[in-house]
Amino acid sequence: MPPVVPSPDQIPFFEELTAAPRPRRPHLRIQPPLLADLTVRQRKAVTHESGPLLIVAGAGTGKTTVITRRIAWLIAEKRALPSEILALTFTDRAALEMVERVDRLVPYGQTDAAISTFHAFGDRLLREHALEAGLSDRSTVLSRAEQIILLREHLFELPLDRYRPLGDPTRFLSALVTLISRLRDEDISPASYLGAAAELRQRAADAPDDEVLAEEAARHAELSAAFDAYERLMRTTDRLDFGDQVGLALRLLRDHPSVLEEERARYRYILVDEFQDTNHAQWEIVRLLAEPHGNVTVVGDDDQSIYRFRGAALGNILGFREAYPKAASVVLVDNYRSRQPILDAAHRLIKHNDPDRLEAREGLDKRLRARLRFDRPEPASGPIEMVAFATGSDEADAVADRIDASMLAGRRAGDHAILVRGNREADPYLRALNMAHIPWRFSGTAGLYRQPEVRVLISFLRAVNDPDDSVSLYDLATSEIFGLAASDVTLALSNARRRRSSLAVALGDAVTDPERSPFSLRAIEVVQRLLGSLEAHRAMSTEKSSGELLYHFISGSGWLARLAHEGRETGEERLANVARFFEIVRRQGSLLRDDRLPFLVAQLDTLIETGDDPSTADVDPDDGDAVHVLTYHKAKGLEFGVVFMVGLIDDRFPGWNRRDALELPEALVSAPPSDADQHVAEERRLFYVGMTRARERLVLSSAQDYGGRRSRGVSRFVAEALDLPPATQPETIRPAVLEQLARHQASPTLPAAPAARPQLGGRPLSLSYGQINDYLECPAKYRYGHVVRLPTPASHQMVYGRALHAAVQAYHRLQLAGGAMSIDELHAALDANWESVGFLTREHEEARRITAREALSRFWDAQQRDPAQPTAVERDFTVAFGRDRLRGRYDRVDRDVAGRVVITDYKSSDVRDLGTANRRAKESLQLSIYALAHEAEHGSLPDELALHFLESGIVGRAEPTEKRLEKAQEQLTQAATGIRAHQFEATPSAMRCGYCPFREICPDASR
Ligand code: SF4
Repeated sequence: MPPVVPSPDQIPFFEELTAAPRPRRPHLRIQPPLLADLTVRQRKAVTHESGPLLIVAGAGTGKTTVITRRIAWLIAEKRALPSEILALTFTDRAALEMVERVDRLVPYGQTDAAISTFHAFGDRLLREHALEAGLSDRSTVLSRAEQIILLREHLFELPLDRYRPLGDPTRFLSALVTLISRLRDEDISPASYLGAAAELRQRAADAPDDEVLAEEAARHAELSAAFDAYERLMRTTDRLDFGDQVGLALRLLRDHPSVLEEERARYRYILVDEFQDTNHAQWEIVRLLAEPHGNVTVVGDDDQSIYRFRGAALGNILGFREAYPKAASVVLVDNYRSRQPILDAAHRLIKHNDPDRLEAREGLDKRLRARLRFDRPEPASGPIEMVAFATGSDEADAVADRIDASMLAGRRAGDHAILVRGNREADPYLRALNMAHIPWRFSGTAGLYRQPEVRVLISFLRAVNDPDDSVSLYDLATSEIFGLAASDVTLALSNARRRRSSLAVALGDAVTDPERSPFSLRAIEVVQRLLGSLEAHRAMSTEKSSGELLYHFISGSGWLARLAHEGRETGEERLANVARFFEIVRRQGSLLRDDRLPFLVAQLDTLIETGDDPSTADVDPDDGDAVHVLTYHKAKGLEFGVVFMVGLIDDRFPGWNRRDALELPEALVSAPPSDADQHVAEERRLFYVGMTRARERLVLSSAQDYGGRRSRGVSRFVAEALDLPPATQPETIRPAVLEQLARHQASPTLPAAPAARPQLGGRPLSLSYGQINDYLECPAKYRYGHVVRLPTPASHQMVYGRALHAAVQAYHRLQLAGGAMSIDELHAALDANWESVGFLTREHEEARRITAREALSRFWDAQQRDPAQPTAVERDFTVAFGRDRLRGRYDRVDRDVAGRVVITDYKSSDVRDLGTANRRAKESLQLSIYALAHEAEHGSLPDELALHFLESGIVGRAEPTEKRLEKAQEQLTQAATGIRAHQFEATPSAMRCGYCPFREICPDASR
């Protein structure tokens, strides 16, 4: 068995810190060094003893290293238990990275510091104190698009007039949702807004000649009433929006001193990452929690504040010292990323934002100093190149050529990034990369619904739902699934139009009268298949949920299998997009009262209409096999060897200052709306962020002509960064005519370049038992289920198991809280968690439900006689396993008076004799993982592991022996090693494939 080794930078203090017995496993031998490799300034920041601390961390200066080492240092120095530390950040990815890095620093099982996003923290507060917050613990959180849908459904219940023009009643809905979001960011309640509107009305009444004031007062009167109505609507429908997760949490802390005290007592140290991105409400939460001790560390860089449009308040970082006049500060300027000339140029640029910068305000020196040595020599002309072209396509081709040359010189495709302002601007570069056969990965902020593989699914749903929807039927008929020739279908469609009928009727006629149709005999067969499929799915649609229907279509047509097959050769992006669309269908279905096709299609149409446009793929910084094409906002936090900042003309950079259509009353906002100067300053920061992504080379490029529109010249930021006279026009590079012609020979449609497979590289993995088990069963099954995340058909076994589990857990939760559940309540819990999906027939479903009720009755009877009381129910754990993490959830943990610990897992499978039950418990990898996790958390193994089979009531028992645990560790290592190496070869067998949810689409399935 390969040893489970400790992470080399773990710290040595835990064995003395914990009272637990000395752990026996090698991965618990903890080694330093925590501070040895830090610079003097980093060390000063990490070891700051107490009180407020502002860490100004420029780009590439090791911000995450400092914040994670500080957490570890606080624990090592026994200044706080891990659970007394709260670290807040903004994205799930950033939170995960922080958790992983702290895990590597702090020993096995001691890392229960609260590290999360602001939203997740607020959500936790609201659910834990749902009663005080006036919410249920099952409130649904709505996305922006879902907020618009809710408002649209209740549009005529809202007190709107000018903002609901009858000729176009939904025109202002999107703007209204933006306004609500801004109100949340600014911590403005409906009552405050109503109050401010009333004051405005009074002022307008006192100045009857001031028409502008009267107009403003009327606007805010209507908007504040609408906000108030929206708030009531959200509460009565038990919904939350993203802003609520912070805003209501803040209100909860303010209005309930006992909750505030509890939370204050819980956290002795608070750390905030990316502090420049906090909004007013988020900063208020931090201040409130930190008030008694002031142990608040914020890390940020005002020069990288680029989220004003999301409510980020630059004033928070600029004004930190006003809140904490005695705060210590550390400025990190040692840069471990870029060459010095790149840093100098970036600094020259950002100085133009003075005096509204910390450097100017606080008299700091924020010039970054390059500390990294590069293997390649610096180009003689310097690492920054400014290039200009006649047209946008010349520019795109030149970028592709340069990347090609750079790859020939030994760089990987993934060392290059092309930064674009928006999704649409990426197209010419993607096309040029295709022409040069260079793989790319585009990470935009939108575009899922426009992908061909997703569009066809939407068309299918629409065509089944509405037989007269000729557009969707056309799309489906000519899609890769049915493959009819577009010219033939167009002809059929024109015939249909002439006769004022639909395409469906024309296709039906073609089948009944092939002689007069435009289709060949072979195509007629396809038309027949298409119409038959639509008819069959229409019939099913009354019974099946939308997700089931869609799954039936893509698996039954063989298309999913084809995609899976193709995915092995050309990358899994298309499969991943299909999987993402399924998630949306399921999510939307769950929001509907009735998840049937007509309602789902209406919901999807509204989502798309309201501008919901999810992104396709996320950039993976470890992905070395494809050029990264991404927006500036997506690039934040990443770094690349060579960065191309393209399209740098003055009307793109700075872009237009788009003010919110509906603005807040000035009296209520902490920062005034963005004026022209502030807008340019924000755009300059965005440019700065782009420049500081580059390690070795930075190319600043522009063209004079983008699609017929003459530009206004090169972006002023280029001149500022390179210290050129304003309005400098670089010499234009023109490709030779022959070269230009050659490029137009063929223009492949997007996407042609294969998407690279993700490389997991050296990143720590976070694995659950389910993932490990899937991998060990068949690596291909793991890939389908956890990498591509393919949808699986709804299964009745899953419904049955989940509902039984949920009922048993509800029983134990009440028991833990000191209550007792009646048998009727237990059955009601079963019903509440039952879903009518995946069953063969209604009779089948009824029979299963009766079995479940009987099993629960037996469980209830047994519990009445059992004196044991669980000490934990449904408790999550996360522990380190070497460099990786194991996560899971104990169903039930008991500790009897003698201190014996028993971990139980409930099973819904049918085991009817004690011998089999005991054998299953002994062989259970899941139970061994629980034993290892328990040992990691508490320093000792549990005394007994149990599988409780709910159908029979039989409990299989086993002891965690060293032999079994060693075997489990071997299996864990095997899975982690294989997953990290991206080894996903199938291991088919008749038995395994027979139960595999991917057997229909898996090309390797044993049949
Ligand atoms: S069908 Fe068989 S070979 Fe394919 S993924 Fe499932 S278990 Fe593996």
